[in-house]
Amino acid sequence: MMNDDSLRTLQKLVIAFREERDWGQFHQIKDLLLGLQIEVAELSEHFLWKSPEDSVRLAAEEDGQRAIGEELADIQIFLLYLAEATGIDLADAVRRKVEVNRRRYPVEKARGSARKYTKLRESGSSK
Ligand SMILES: [Mg+2]
Repeated sequence: MMNDDSLRTLQKLVIAFREERDWGQFHQIKDLLLGLQIEVAELSEHFLWKSPEDSVRLAAEEDGQRAIGEELADIQIFLLYLAEATGIDLADAVRRKVEVNRRRYPVEKARGSARKYTKLRESGSSK
């Protein structure tokens, strides 16, 4: 379907790509996890030794946009394969996790605070 960017549609897209190449046989869960970690490392490498300012600059540049976008896509593709391999509905899992985080981090306690939810009950400054 054109312009359907839902996770389910993207998952079908990457699985069709894989089936055309008969690569499913290589997609054991542990290999998908290794692939995911390698792609996260590839993304991280673009920011290695850069200052926060240079990182923001890189992300704004055309070359940076392309390079970062490619690695983010690689990461998302592995996530979609992992969701398929484990039978997890990723969109559903994200929605459920945001709900858990809403309960863990009520706005009135968590707003502007970097504290972990286990420390939020304590009163006083969040800084
Ligand atoms: Mg990559």
